[in-house]
Amino acid sequence: KGNNGKYTVTLIPGDGIGPEISESVKDIYAAAKVPIEWEEVSVTPVLKGGKTVIPDAAINSVKKNTVALKGPLATPIGKGHVSLNLTLRRTFNLFANVRPCVSIKGFKTPYDNVDTVLIRENTEGEYSGIEHEIVDGVVQSIKLITWDASERVARYAFHYAQASGRKRVTAVHKANIMKMSDGMFLSACRQVSKDFPGIAYDEDLLDRVCLQIVQNPQPYSNRVMVMPNLYGDILSDMCAGLIGGLGLTPSGNIGRDASIFEAVHGSAPDIAGKGLANPTALLLSSLMMLRHMNLNEHAAKIEGAALSTIAEGQTITGDLGGKASTKEYTSAIIDKLAKA
Ligand code: NAD
Repeated sequence: KGNNGKYTVTLIPGDGIGPEISESVKDIYAAAKVPIEWEEVSVTPVLKGGKTVIPDAAINSVKKNTVALKGPLATPIGKGHVSLNLTLRRTFNLFANVRPCVSIKGFKTPYDNVDTVLIRENTEGEYSGIEHEIVDGVVQSIKLITWDASERVARYAFHYAQASGRKRVTAVHKANIMKMSDGMFLSACRQVSKDFPGIAYDEDLLDRVCLQIVQNPQPYSNRVMVMPNLYGDILSDMCAGLIGGLGLTPSGNIGRDASIFEAVHGSAPDIAGKGLANPTALLLSSLMMLRHMNLNEHAAKIEGAALSTIAEGQTITGDLGGKASTKEYTSAIIDKLAKA
């Protein structure tokens, strides 16, 4: 917190629709008088010693502020490009990815009772990036699981459950097949669970969870599910589908050295620059950030204004079936804030 009573937060507007949806969040925060000062940085890679890297200014800003809000980054596909998202994850030890999947009241989807939080190990597992060709036509990709990373994400999951009043933590796995790797992940979860006697703990197979949750999400309410990297990547997108898609799903990357909050969706090149993007996912991610900073009242106020705008259905963006532009939707939320 600075001398002016405001917290400085790094803002990475990102690519494609990133600048448009970031603008919307900034406008809403100004109207709600949130005590935050944005420090805007670009993460467009620069050449350093023959390698493309994230500019030092961006890294230093996140290091100093320890909290950042990030728009989507376009990842070029192909050889020679590092994924910027992966670089940020490694630079700041972003060990847990948190994805709440909660039905949005008033927005009609097949289920209106989805209420679960997925926490995924974010640094290793199937995405450790260790791949090599053994002989022509045979490639090996290594799934790396360590006790330390498993224990760390399990502990965060139990803390999160405790802090958010959720009653159960479920470890999602395939230890029936991956006996040693997922087996150790489960052992770590089991051990951590002993430190949280007030929170129930159980384990469930990934395939079973997929089948069950799309048939009836109700039993998964009020709990936190924790799992290795790849399972969480897929299961969380599936759960995003249950609540109405990517335009509505927030996330947080919790790290040792900083935490970065971001929408789950990408840069949406097909609608970029047209003023059509839905800023809700980035806005809800920013509210996770406010709660992480203990600015709970501001978060609740903005959440109320956004969710009631969606529930009324008058001024919503195209992806939600409406006709409003990003700016019209943003103004509708700001009007609600003024009346609150
Ligand atoms: P995408 O999420 O950008 O788009 C998928 C579809 O959803 C598109 O039709 C898009 O118009 C729509 N959409 C997404 N967000 C929306 C929003 N807020 N409002 C309205 N519609 C929205 O996925 P993609 O096309 O596969 O990826 C595009 C680029 O984004 C790629 O370069 C990819 O690598 C990158 N990406 C980045 C992140 C990230 O930074 N975290 C995540 C995913 C993808």
